[in-house]
Amino acid sequence: MKYIIANWKLNGSKSLLSEFLNQFATHSLHNYVVLCPPHLLLSDLDNKHIDNFFMGSQNVSEYDNGAFTGEISAEMLAENKIFHSIVGHSERRTLFSETDEKINIKIKQLLSNNITPILCIGENLEQRNTNTFKKIIDLQLEEAFKNIKIDDQTIIIAYEPIWSIGTGITPDISQIIAVHEFIKTKIKQMYPKNVNQFKITYGGSVNLKNYNTILSSAAVDGVLVGGASLDSRSFYEICNFKN
Ligand code: PEP
Repeated sequence: MKYIIANWKLNGSKSLLSEFLNQFATHSLHNYVVLCPPHLLLSDLDNKHIDNFFMGSQNVSEYDNGAFTGEISAEMLAENKIFHSIVGHSERRTLFSETDEKINIKIKQLLSNNITPILCIGENLEQRNTNTFKKIIDLQLEEAFKNIKIDDQTIIIAYEPIWSIGTGITPDISQIIAVHEFIKTKIKQMYPKNVNQFKITYGGSVNLKNYNTILSSAAVDGVLVGGASLDSRSFYEICNFKN
């Protein structure tokens, strides 16, 4: 079973969501699918009964409650039966000043509300070209999980090289595998007893042409799909990947 996550970003509508739900309601899925639309489109799916199909948030507040206009807390997500949330997407890091420190607090908020974090990490082009990317990823993991104790929760990590997001350029499969193995080794050092609870997925220009190669690798537990997740038929095909 692979993890297939859709990040709609600031796109989508009620009609697109109902098109997706109708498409996905037709068959049960053998992969684990999480659809992350804008907050207003989140719904608890109680009346849909689609096996292995879940909704996720694209962001969460680092605060519990109070005078924080525009924020949505982890407790509010849980109350609405939303049990997955992306955290630390590169667009939030660069466009909304989300620091590693804030990401760490957000992961704590999510875990204490039984929400699965989908933590995005990855290097920019300069860091890749200067071969400092492993150091960056190492640091992002250290900071994200600082003082966090894991019990039995699942944690999804999305390795998303920034130079690949929305560009149509993807690393070679050997480069993807090398980073996934690097992340796994790091997690083993940090959480030796919990390493199997961490699912390491790849994100960055995943589409109908490349998903099969990427998902066929045993080192890749899944994919996070941006642009290609806005088309219900393409996304449905990716979600039906079989080894
Ligand atoms: C993303 O938004 O995280 C992403 C991977 O986007 P895209 O698939 O469009 O590159």
